[in-house]
Amino acid sequence: MYALTFGGKEMIEYSNVSDPQLLQPTDAIVKITMAGICGSDLHVYHGRETGLDHGTVMGHEFTGIVEEAGRDVRKFKKGTRVLSPFTTSCGECFYCRIGLTCRCEKGNLFGWVEKGHGLHGAQSQYIRVPMADSTLLPLSNDLSERKGLLLGDVFSTGYFCADNAGIKPSSVYAVIGCGPVGLMTVIAAKHLGASTLFAIDTIPERLAMAKNFGAVPLNATLVNVKEEILNNTHGRGADGVMEVVGSSATLKLAIDLLRPGGTISSVGVHTAKHFSFSPGEAYDKNLIYKSGRCPAHYYAEKLLRTEVPQRYAIEDIITHQFSLQQGAKAYEVFDKKLDNCIKAVLMTS
Ligand SMILES: [Zn+2]
Ligand SMILES: [Zn+2]
Repeated sequence: MYALTFGGKEMIEYSNVSDPQLLQPTDAIVKITMAGICGSDLHVYHGRETGLDHGTVMGHEFTGIVEEAGRDVRKFKKGTRVLSPFTTSCGECFYCRIGLTCRCEKGNLFGWVEKGHGLHGAQSQYIRVPMADSTLLPLSNDLSERKGLLLGDVFSTGYFCADNAGIKPSSVYAVIGCGPVGLMTVIAAKHLGASTLFAIDTIPERLAMAKNFGAVPLNATLVNVKEEILNNTHGRGADGVMEVVGSSATLKLAIDLLRPGGTISSVGVHTAKHFSFSPGEAYDKNLIYKSGRCPAHYYAEKLLRTEVPQRYAIEDIITHQFSLQQGAKAYEVFDKKLDNCIKAVLMTS
C-alpha cells in the first residue's frame, strides 16, 4: 500500500510500504477514506519531537471502513464506517473507566513508532487498529467523513478545552489562537453558553471564521488585547481563558487576561521546560489551571450521542483537500498557511 512516511526533518515521503496485518484477535484493519494533517504532526515534521523512527507512517486523524476484523472483535465487521480517536484505549483500565481514555494503561498514539515499538499512522491507505472494540466508534450515515474526522481529534479537543473552562452564561471568555482547535473551541464555548467570547489571533481570515462561529474577533496586531478585555469586564479580566497554541507567550497572555479566581484551560501542546508565569502570579490570581491531552474517545462518544456535530458547520475549517500522493505539498501548504489554509485533509483512496 501507499503511505506518507517520516523521512527526517521536513521530509514527508510518499512510500510503498507493507500492508498492515492483524496481530491480535482484538485488532481491526481499516481502509482509510480520509486522513487529517494536524498541528501536532508539525512538531514531528519540524524535528521538534525526537525519537520517531524514520519510515513511520504519519498521522493520527482518520475515518474509514473496516476491511478486516480479528476474531474477538464484536462491535465492528467488514464494511462498517468508522471514526477513530488519535489514541487507542482498552475501555477497562482505571483511566478508561474514569473517562480519561487518553491515559489508557494500554493505549498508544497513532503515527508514533520509536525503536520499532508503537503504532503506524493514518496518512495511508490502511491502518491496523488495536483494541478495535474500545478504540473505534461507528460513523453513522447522517455524519459526513469530515465531521467524523474532526470528532476524532480537533472538535473533541476544542470541546474538552471549553468544558474545562467551566463556561457560565453571563461570564466573559477568551480563546487564544484561532487555528483548527481554537475555532472548534469557539463553537463549543458558544454551545456551552458563553455569551461574550473573545477570539484572539493575528490572521484576518481565521478571525473572520471565529466571528462567523459567534466570537468577537480581536486582532492582536491591531488592538491591545488586554485593554479590550479589561474594558469589557469592569477592569477585572476574563472569567476564563482557553489557550490552544502551546507557546510561552500565549500562556503568559492567558494569565494576564484572567481575573482573580478565573480558570485557564490549556490544550496547546507545550514544549517549554517552565511556566511563563511564576507561582506567585498564580497565587495572586487564585488561579485554576486545567490542562492536558484530550480524552478524545470519551468526548467523541459523548458528542455522538447528541446532535451537536450535526448542528454546527464544524467542517468549515477544512479549507484544503489533497490526494495522498500530494502529501509533501499538503504538509507545506498547511505548515506555511499558504492560500489561507486552516485545516488540510488527504483523500487516501
Ligand atoms: Zn490531531
Ligand atoms: Zn484503558
